[in-house]
Amino acid sequence: MTTLADYPHLASGKVRDLYEVDGETLLLVASDRISAFDHVLSTPIPDKGRVLTALSVFWFGLLGSGPGSSSSDAAAPPAHHLVAVRDERIPEEVRGRALLVRRLEMVPVECVARGYLAGSGTTDYRRDGAICGVPLPDGLTEASMLPAPIFTPATKAAAGEHDENVSFAHVAEQVGPDLAGALRDATLSIYERGSAYAASRGIILADTKLEFGVDPSGALVLGDEVLTPDSSRFWPADAYEPGVPQPSFDKQYVRDWLTSAESGWDRHGGAPPPPLPEPVVEATRARYIEAYTRLTGAQWPPPM
Ligand code: ATP
Ligand code: MG
Repeated sequence: MTTLADYPHLASGKVRDLYEVDGETLLLVASDRISAFDHVLSTPIPDKGRVLTALSVFWFGLLGSGPGSSSSDAAAPPAHHLVAVRDERIPEEVRGRALLVRRLEMVPVECVARGYLAGSGTTDYRRDGAICGVPLPDGLTEASMLPAPIFTPATKAAAGEHDENVSFAHVAEQVGPDLAGALRDATLSIYERGSAYAASRGIILADTKLEFGVDPSGALVLGDEVLTPDSSRFWPADAYEPGVPQPSFDKQYVRDWLTSAESGWDRHGGAPPPPLPEPVVEATRARYIEAYTRLTGAQWPPPM
């Protein structure tokens, strides 16, 4: 029987741990860790890793073009890295929250698509009338729909640091104009298909962050997680109301508690955030599960 200890540990991010299975294949394990304000919290959210994994698998299937599919057609979806979620090579202890994926050379750009104004997009728009150098019309407000979805890349920050929005020209300088153009096209194409599907489930996909890598043949491949509550802003369409921050299926609940008087935490004080109380954990878990059931139409938990 395979155990996690059989595989060399390559890296750990805030949420996922990466192991080497063989020269071409990695094991991407989603933990129950949750991060907020660039801190990993000391309290895990039960089932979060399984929700993120199941939702990514759902989207990889919907978006298409897994390993082995031919994509000579220019309109074909970008390839993705998922090999299997059920496989003998996945140790039992992480089954359900681990993906077997193709090993890629990751491109160090956070590929963000935005269809609505939120988060750092709102901050940048208010300051510059633009996001990442993309000019926007006057008169937009918090949560406004943009005239068309835009590509707003960010540099991948070191641990504990904030990702920084950059212009397309900056990305072109960093990785070359051809790869930069391919990242933009693939990001917007996935956003467009993902948001059209989400709309059919009563959910607005306000924005999302994707990560791509390059395979040994030089092809661009979608990696990491896709269209999850950790990487995306999902808003219930029936409560949509531009002008104010939208309720969402993400970590808003945790962020709100951490910044409330009740937590006693000073976001700018340098101390790590306090442990989450049980009701906040339970409410957050319920929101992750609700994102899964609303988007997929399936029951939680998914069959193993
Ligand atoms: P965060 O998502 O919190 O900004 P992060 O992306 O550094 O941080 P995680 O998402 O926790 O961290 O970890 C996943 C790591 O695995 C990332 O460094 C990501 O680039 C890498 N990764 C994902 N898919 C692949 C792949 N197919 N091949 C190689 N590395 C991958
Ligand atoms: Mg990540």
